[in-house]
Amino acid sequence: MPTRPKPKLNLRVLILVFVLFAALATLANSFWVMFKIQKQELIENALQVNQAYAARIASGVEQVLSSDQERLKYAAAVLGGDFDDSQRLVGEARRLLGQDNSFNSVLITNATGTIIASMPEHLNLNGQSLQDQTPLRLRQPIISKAFKSIAGNLLVFVSQPVFDGKGRYLGLVGGSIRLEQKNALQDLMDRQVREDGAHVYLVDSNRRVLYHPYPEQIGQIVAEDPIVDAALSQGGGSLQALDAQGVEMLAGFTHVPSSGWGVIAQQPLGNIQATLQVTMSKVAKGILPLALFGLVLIWWLGTRISAPLSRLAESAKRLDSPESYERISAIPAQYSESWQIRRALLLGTSLLQEKIGRLNQQAQSDALTGLANRRAMQDTLAHWQQANQPFAIVSMDIDHFKRVNDTFGHGVGDETLRAIADLMKQNSRTDDLPCRVGGEEFVLLLPNSSLRAATDVAERLRASIAAAQIDTVGHITVSLGVSVWQPGSGSITAALEKADQLLYQAKQKGRNCVVAEQRSLAVS
Ligand code: GH3
Ligand code: MG
Ligand code: MG
Repeated sequence: MPTRPKPKLNLRVLILVFVLFAALATLANSFWVMFKIQKQELIENALQVNQAYAARIASGVEQVLSSDQERLKYAAAVLGGDFDDSQRLVGEARRLLGQDNSFNSVLITNATGTIIASMPEHLNLNGQSLQDQTPLRLRQPIISKAFKSIAGNLLVFVSQPVFDGKGRYLGLVGGSIRLEQKNALQDLMDRQVREDGAHVYLVDSNRRVLYHPYPEQIGQIVAEDPIVDAALSQGGGSLQALDAQGVEMLAGFTHVPSSGWGVIAQQPLGNIQATLQVTMSKVAKGILPLALFGLVLIWWLGTRISAPLSRLAESAKRLDSPESYERISAIPAQYSESWQIRRALLLGTSLLQEKIGRLNQQAQSDALTGLANRRAMQDTLAHWQQANQPFAIVSMDIDHFKRVNDTFGHGVGDETLRAIADLMKQNSRTDDLPCRVGGEEFVLLLPNSSLRAATDVAERLRASIAAAQIDTVGHITVSLGVSVWQPGSGSITAALEKADQLLYQAKQKGRNCVVAEQRSLAVS
């Protein structure tokens, strides 16, 4: 019969694999959720911080610009009263330049845009025309877009119109802010250094960078950049987007209304990821000892839960062994299933052992008389031989039994055999073994018996059979041969054959008699 392949996984491994898998999946899932939430929080936080930061810078820029305008407005008012005094004009320009470091240069033009006074003097601007005529045309306070001066410097020009007492337009007074040079605006921005990798920059409405922590960026026109678009078109807000360099940024922005500039505070998303990695590795380190403890606990519990079932399964393979009942009883069963399986196995073992016992009994006994059969006799003899146990053999055959069958029939013959068997039992000691070894042939084994004692037993048996009144048949006789076996005295088969020969002699002598082994009798 083809045998099915044995399953390779046992319950313990299965429990451990499933529980470990579930535990690890839960752990990984928690970790992942924690990671996502943490990341989202950090992003939102960064966006908020950057937005607030951009707003603060914008208000600073606004203040710087409005104080510049205020200073120029004051100068315009002063100059409006006395615009023809060139000394006065130069004095005012000097005062404006020297007042603080707001402007890198100061100039005053007449109504046609010709520079009539300027500072510092070494620029030699007097007599030149104003590059951008827009302030002359509009005749109102202006903050220009960034532009390159004649000298090649990147400038923003802040100006105030000058009117006389009658409201006639006389010209303008203005200050230039050189974007790459130290000035009040630069000072303001440079003060705002952040340690979280965020940087702030300033663009005008032409998308030209007015300030940037990397000086080489100043003056550049920012290409496609949704963050700059948002900063120039909206009041303020935050945005996660790719910048002009294709780097994903978390940006906060604010529009500066007086100048139309945009302030952008931003940091790469990568910075967040680095922070996140540090946080998550701290979380992992925090969780690890407990997780390891949990896994060991699961391992230990899994082993404990599955141990009784494994032992029961192992025992179930050997239910037929005599010690299996004790072995199964010793297996602890702390939970219902193992208890039930153990109970079922114990029941099965008892039934099996009982059945085996019964079959053994059947295999060893003669069905008609209940005496031991030839196999049982041989097993016993072999056992005694191994144990060096001396014994006597009484071989017995019913005389003229054929006649019994012929006269009374087989049924009566069988009854007679049973009656003889009973008489054998009655004439045996507890340790003796009466056997039926053939049709009407019997053997009585007598352990630790001398030839004389065995001959006596044989004689008593013969006499009691001869004397017995057997149903239907009446009297019947038997012939017996007696031999002994002692350790070293030869084979058991020889001893059995000897007893048979002596029995044959008894038949020869006329039946109903005992013939014992002569030589041994003399010895015993
Ligand atoms: P002897 O004195 O020489 O032994 O004469 P005997 O007739 O007994 O001869 P033998 O021992 O050869 O007889 C064997 C007879 O025993 C043959 C058979 O009819 C009978 N017999 C053998 N087994 C059984 C049995 O199981 N039941 C019955 N009823 N008769 C049996
Ligand atoms: Mg016979
Ligand atoms: Mg016979």
